[in-house]
Amino acid sequence: MQKPNVYLFPQLDDNYGYLIKNPHETKGVLVDPSDLSMCLKILELNDCVASHILITHHHDDHIAAVGEIKSKFNSLVIGYRNDSKIPKPDKEVLDYETFEILGNEYKVIHTPGHTLQHINFFMPQHNILFSGDTLFSIGCGRMFEGTPEVFWDSLCKIKQLPKDTKIYCGHEYTLANVNFALSIDPNNKELQQYSKWASHQENELRPTIPTMLSDQLLCNPFLRCDEDQFMKLYESQNEIEVFAKMRSAKDNF
Ligand SMILES: [Zn+2]
Repeated sequence: MQKPNVYLFPQLDDNYGYLIKNPHETKGVLVDPSDLSMCLKILELNDCVASHILITHHHDDHIAAVGEIKSKFNSLVIGYRNDSKIPKPDKEVLDYETFEILGNEYKVIHTPGHTLQHINFFMPQHNILFSGDTLFSIGCGRMFEGTPEVFWDSLCKIKQLPKDTKIYCGHEYTLANVNFALSIDPNNKELQQYSKWASHQENELRPTIPTMLSDQLLCNPFLRCDEDQFMKLYESQNEIEVFAKMRSAKDNF
C-alpha cells in the first residue's frame, strides 16, 4: 500500500484540519472538520470527496462542519462510542479498536484528559498519529475534564508509539508552547534548536506541524514529567504530581 498523503489545512482561528488521501484516489478522509469553506476548498484542490470523517473529541472547533460535510458527501462519520456530545457517528469505535478505511488501517487510542472521551487515531502501517487536543508540539491540551492521573497516562500511551511517528495535532500553538518550555528547561540544546526552527517557520508563514515523536520526547516537557530535573523543579517524586504542577504553571504562564 502506497503511503497516503496527509494535507494540512487551517480552520477557524488556529485550528488544523487534515485530509488523508491515497495517491490517485477520488475519495478522502477528513479529520475534525470545523470550517466548512476551508474543508470544501481542500477537497476541491485535491479533486476528491469526503467519504469519511474522523472525530477526535466533542469541542465545537473540531466538529462544527461535520453535519454539513456529511449531508453534502454522505460521508461515514467515525467517533468514540462513549462520547455522547459528538454528532452521532455512523461507526462507533472503542479504545484499541482497529478499522480500515480506503485500504489504510487505523487504531483507536483513548486519551482522556483534555476531555474524558478524547481519542487519537494512529495509522500503524505508516506511523502517523492524529492527536487532536491531547498532544501538541512542545505542549499538551488544557485539562478541561480529566485528572492529572488520566492525562499523564494518556501521554504515556503516545510515548510508547514508534519514535518516527509523525504527529498531526489540532492547533498551531507551537511558539507559545516553546516559550513556556524554555522557561522551565532553558539549557535543553534540542529545545533551543527546535525553538529557532519554529520561529523560522512562523516568519515564513509555514506550519510547524507535523512534528516527529522523537523530537517531542527530547523537547516537550509534558512528556518528561518523570525526569529528575522536573521532579526537582516541582519538588515532587511523583510524575503525576509533576504533571499537575506543570500543567497549572502553563495555564498561568
Ligand atoms: Zn478541544
